[in-house]
Amino acid sequence: MLKKRKRTEMNQGEQKEKGSGTLNLKQIIQEQKLAIPSENIHFQEPMKNHVSFRIGGPAECFITIETQEQLKTVLLFADQNKIPITILGNGTNVLVSDQGIPGITLQIKLTGIKIENHEDYAIIHVASGEKIIPLAHNLAGQGIAGMESLSGIPGSLGGAVRMNAGAHGKEMKDILQTISTLDRKGNSHTYPVEEAEFSYRHSVFQTKEEIITKVTLKLTYGKTEEIKQQMQTYANERKQKQPLEFPSAGSTFKRGNGFITAALIDQAGLKGKQRGGAKVSEKHAGFIINQGNATAEDVIELTKSVQQEVQKQFGKKIELEIELIGQF
Ligand SMILES: Cc1cc2nc3c(=O)[nH]c(=O)nc-3n(C[C@H](O)[C@H](O)[C@H](O)COP(=O)(O)OP(=O)(O)OC[C@H]3O[C@@H](n4cnc5c(N)ncnc54)[C@H](O)[C@@H]3O)c2cc1C
Repeated sequence: MLKKRKRTEMNQGEQKEKGSGTLNLKQIIQEQKLAIPSENIHFQEPMKNHVSFRIGGPAECFITIETQEQLKTVLLFADQNKIPITILGNGTNVLVSDQGIPGITLQIKLTGIKIENHEDYAIIHVASGEKIIPLAHNLAGQGIAGMESLSGIPGSLGGAVRMNAGAHGKEMKDILQTISTLDRKGNSHTYPVEEAEFSYRHSVFQTKEEIITKVTLKLTYGKTEEIKQQMQTYANERKQKQPLEFPSAGSTFKRGNGFITAALIDQAGLKGKQRGGAKVSEKHAGFIINQGNATAEDVIELTKSVQQEVQKQFGKKIELEIELIGQF
């Protein structure tokens, strides 16, 4: 424990006042010998390399988290030094600001899958950094069914739980049993699914400042061939309907209350509308795609004009499904 704080140990707010935030955060991390492998820590890391939209300025400090111990260490360090924390899973539902992300960004790469077989069902213990697509394929190979509808969602388990991600009439909440987290002081919590306040693309974890570390899923048994065939049918459908050949963050807007958002965008004549490098996909009006050189500002401006036009033509309010990270 340090008795007296040195200049380099000022909190983030104090550093900002001194006007040299980047250097000081690096110094704090180096001087306090943050117990994380140095190859997991990067400064001024371009976020476009870590998100499916391929857009986003630098994270002031980007740390890849591989164990729960590492996560706890960084959370306590950030709490003590009052450094803001941003959480990233697989980066498939986020738009990162062109100005980047201040403080520490944690990329959650916790891994581990344990299968507990029962007579009529299987309980799967999964770390939150595992990705849905390979998990669904892995389980299908072992004759475990129930993830077919969700098997094309490109997120991590942690991100999918927070978003209550869903597809083809099924949502994460339908297969979850428990969700475990660490809070910002490093304390662990476990919630039964009933306490997670799941609804369409919503969970309690959107308001709690906790990091999802692991989940348990309750699944059934089936025939590998049949499960894989169903997954392939869904994958073909996605390929046919979605602009998977371009970077995006999936559906840009949420489903409407009593209307299909993408259909209204299409009827409003907005397919193909562009702003800088961002474009409303011609294949699927619900997707805004990055044609290669889009900025976050391009995407935001385009989403605003789509929202305004739909409001003007149909009197309907459409909300973003993608989450904004950093300053907008
Ligand atoms: C081509 C494409 C298709 C898609 N199809 C679908 C679809 O069919 N259905 C659907 O629902 N979504 C879909 N998505 C969106 C996205 O894949 C899901 O929302 C997914 O669940 C996000 O997971 P992620 O790990 O990528 O989260 P990220 O994008 O990394 O993060 C999303 C949010 O979750 C938070 N978060 C991430 N990990 C954790 C954690 N461990 N603890 C706490 N918070 C965390 C982040 O802070 C952020 O607020 C699609 C996206 C793409 C690019």
